[in-house]
Amino acid sequence: MITNPVKTKKIRSVFTVKNKKHLSPHLIRVIFEISEDQAALLSHVQCGSNNKIFIPPPEEGSQPLVRTYTNRKVDLENRELIIDFVAHGDNGPASAWALKAQAGDILEIGMKESTRALIPDADFYLFAGDATALPVISSIVEQLPSYVTAKVILEVHEKEDELILCSAADISIEWLHNPRPEKGSRLADVVRNTQFPPGIMKEYIYVAAEYTTVRDLRQYFKTQLLWDPHGMYICSYWKAGQSEDEHSGN
Ligand SMILES: Cc1cc2nc3c(=O)[nH]c(=O)nc-3n(C[C@H](O)[C@H](O)[C@H](O)COP(=O)(O)OP(=O)(O)OC[C@H]3O[C@@H](n4cnc5c(N)ncnc54)[C@H](O)[C@@H]3O)c2cc1C
Repeated sequence: MITNPVKTKKIRSVFTVKNKKHLSPHLIRVIFEISEDQAALLSHVQCGSNNKIFIPPPEEGSQPLVRTYTNRKVDLENRELIIDFVAHGDNGPASAWALKAQAGDILEIGMKESTRALIPDADFYLFAGDATALPVISSIVEQLPSYVTAKVILEVHEKEDELILCSAADISIEWLHNPRPEKGSRLADVVRNTQFPPGIMKEYIYVAAEYTTVRDLRQYFKTQLLWDPHGMYICSYWKAGQSEDEHSGN
């Protein structure tokens, strides 16, 4: 894994949809073409980094709606940029866009190039997330080296939304099912009850989920366990009842 931050140039470009498929009932994969010019721009954009998508406004003349997603895969060899969207209905412009997207559609996407590792080195990782974090966690575990161990706890809508995660590391996955994530989640409880294996030298916790889960787990690790702040990343990916515009300032 590369560690030192070197550069963080911003990129903003219009991408064309090449293909779209349902990976599972609630996860839509949109594959964008990367043109030759874009390939040069994206050479330092990491798989698993996040982006901003700019959804055309409903009325002409207004600003685009900005939403945050994960670059699930930046595949320069096949010239494909992959974003996986949770299909949570058409009440959100991003989810609605993905539901309707078809080959030939365009979307403006902004991202940053960086050589900084998404996670620091550790010998044991605990990853916990809901469906919105499935793309980033899948991407990170794909990049883990074989000599580390990871426990992954993922909450998806139903059994059919479970996906295969590929990793060279020794990973174990626990799936939780929650058909109404906007009504609450068991994820924080399950994480709090997770046993860490004995004899670990360096552990790292990575949590990305709905606001309430994140708030509870921040409180648990920071305040209750006095966890080393360098040994965790706990990030709210969305907030039930609020659009990203309303939530992102929180
Ligand atoms: C760094 C980062 C990376 C992210 N990566 C991904 C990703 O790769 N894939 C992905 O799907 N999401 C990802 N998200 C989450 C995504 O940005 C939010 O879910 C976002 O709110 C979706 O926008 P929207 O326009 O569909 O809905 P909004 O307009 O933001 O919200 C409309 C309504 O839908 C609700 N809502 C929003 N998301 C969900 C959901 N997942 N389930 C149920 N209700 C919801 C809101 O509470 C609100 O009531 C990421 C977030 C962050 C911060």
